[in-house]
Amino acid sequence: MAQYKHSNYLNQSDNAAYDTLYKPGENCPNSGIYRCEACGDEIASNKGNPFPPQNHHQHAPGKGSIQWKLIVFAQQKK
Ligand SMILES: [Zn+2]
Repeated sequence: MAQYKHSNYLNQSDNAAYDTLYKPGENCPNSGIYRCEACGDEIASNKGNPFPPQNHHQHAPGKGSIQWKLIVFAQQKK
């Protein structure tokens, strides 16, 4: 589970961006921390880069498919 120390650096948000699931190799739309829905692994991914390919993040048979979900959005200045 993602962790933090100083809560004043994080805001709670209901933005729909936190509900979308992404497949391996798909383009990352928002920089931030993503969690795999099936195994709970977490990664940092940058906007415009692809999510880790299938052969980089692997599941044991029967674990289900890899689906990345945004859990912490990195607010970047324009
Ligand atoms: Zn996984």
